[in-house]
Amino acid sequence: MRVATSQLDLRRASSLDNALDILRDRERTPIAGATDLYVALNFGTLVPKRFVDIWGLDELRGISVRDDILVIGALATYSALMRSSVVAERLPMLAEASGQVGGVQIQNRGTLGGNIANASPAGDSLPVLAAADAVVVLRNAEHERRVSINEFYTGYRATVMKPDELIVAIEIAAVEGRQWFRKVGTRAAQAISKIVVAGVRGPATRIAFGSVAPTVVRAPETERALGDGASIDDAAAVLMREIKPIDDIRSTAEYRLRVSANLLRRFWADTA
Ligand SMILES: Cc1cc2nc3c(=O)[nH]c(=O)nc-3n(C[C@H](O)[C@H](O)[C@H](O)COP(=O)(O)OP(=O)(O)OC[C@H]3O[C@@H](n4cnc5c(N)ncnc54)[C@H](O)[C@@H]3O)c2cc1C
Repeated sequence: MRVATSQLDLRRASSLDNALDILRDRERTPIAGATDLYVALNFGTLVPKRFVDIWGLDELRGISVRDDILVIGALATYSALMRSSVVAERLPMLAEASGQVGGVQIQNRGTLGGNIANASPAGDSLPVLAAADAVVVLRNAEHERRVSINEFYTGYRATVMKPDELIVAIEIAAVEGRQWFRKVGTRAAQAISKIVVAGVRGPATRIAFGSVAPTVVRAPETERALGDGASIDDAAAVLMREIKPIDDIRSTAEYRLRVSANLLRRFWADTA
């Protein structure tokens, strides 16, 4: 049932520590830019009505480089990622992906942490983070832990995150090689991906796909084939055995399989 926002019980956190204290009782859902959350409330697919608003926590907005690691605060918006000179320099595929999320309003409100926590297999930032071997920094009132994005998802819209934890940052070590991103949707803007791909061609070639499985996935057998010098046609054949997309309202399994193979070929040609 659709939930009116007037029925919500919202506590606004005054600091990160305050937010983590509020979450300690495990009865509140974090709300950041609310771009996913309000849609879920509107469609009646979200049961909780008690929230903690973290949008005002500027300490989670920074984008910087520390010890050669790109550190992106969970509340960094797509607009901030598109504007950031360090993202442009170190992770241009994330800037590219950010520019293809929704429209300007969504780019101004939607956050990287929200995209990760929302756990949609179609999330546009997720293949980028998977191909870059990003690390998700989780914190609760007691301690902080780090989880590879490639181990963060346990199934469809399921993650290792605990109810009292917040994503506070995303860390990305220097990425060696040429980066590439491509999203295929029904139109140029405001479209959810039918397929979304990010790749890095370098000493360790890495490629990740969204919308072809219950979670974002890397394609390790395809990566190995490319790394071993297989022809791109052979690598595409490996990929078509490796991923197992499904039919859903946005596309068919067959379309996704063929387009994934075509995108792999495009990735290889563009990064030659
Ligand atoms: C019109 C429209 C178009 C869109 N287009 C795209 C698109 O093209 N590509 C795409 O990938 N997405 C798209 N989205 C989805 C959405 O904008 C993104 O997923 C966004 O990044 C979510 O961030 P948010 O801050 O708004 O999250 P919220 O809606 O505030 O939260 C989403 C979920 O994450 C949790 N959460 C948020 N922040 C944290 C945190 N720091 N720690 C722990 N949990 C947290 C919340 O509890 C909630 O479960 C679109 C949405 C709309 C409405």
